[in-house]
Amino acid sequence: MSPKEGRRGMLVVISGPSGTGKTSICNKLLGRERTVWSVSATTRPPRGTEVAGRAYEYVSREEFDTRRREGGFLEWAEYVAHLYGTPREPVFKALDDGYDVIMEIDVQGGEQVAKKVPESVRIFVLPPTMESLKARLEGRKTESAGQLSKRLAEADGEIGFARDSGSYEHFVVNDVLDDTVAEIIGIIESERERSSR
Ligand code: 5GP
Repeated sequence: MSPKEGRRGMLVVISGPSGTGKTSICNKLLGRERTVWSVSATTRPPRGTEVAGRAYEYVSREEFDTRRREGGFLEWAEYVAHLYGTPREPVFKALDDGYDVIMEIDVQGGEQVAKKVPESVRIFVLPPTMESLKARLEGRKTESAGQLSKRLAEADGEIGFARDSGSYEHFVVNDVLDDTVAEIIGIIESERERSSR
């Protein structure tokens, strides 16, 4: 069956504090058939190991502002002094073509998607403990000490926001990666069944 014949895809939002393992989770979810990744645009400079076009589209603040003004983003947010946004057009094209679309975005973006695309599945990933989050971020060695403490401070706020906003129906603790991924796949499948009934 070609994607077009069967069904409309599901929009899957994955959020959670920096360092909870969202990207590893998303990479595993991308191994499923008919699943694509929403490439965000950001004004943040690339980290050492990131490749343009895969993790992010790296743009200037001017370009970001122009695209935002023109309505080019499904959602966008400022996170630790950088802008991040989801280009609108590729998401809806992929959904129309029957692909599930994975978006890894922050809680401000999750709230916008909850309003604009209420049929999306929104999942918030929690660390087992705040100590484990700190250890993970430190071990990653991708941020300066200043950036790291900003991201840790942000984490508390994000968890509170996710709980209070009502934008996330699913909270998943990422302890063992494969178990977390299996749980998320279970959520996606049961939401798909529910929406097709
Ligand atoms: P990082 O700089 O670690 O790649 O991402 C920082 C935060 O921005 C993470 O919480 C990530 O999920 C979020 N993020 C990445 N892309 C987008 C986007 O397109 N929109 C929004 N709202 N947040 C994003």
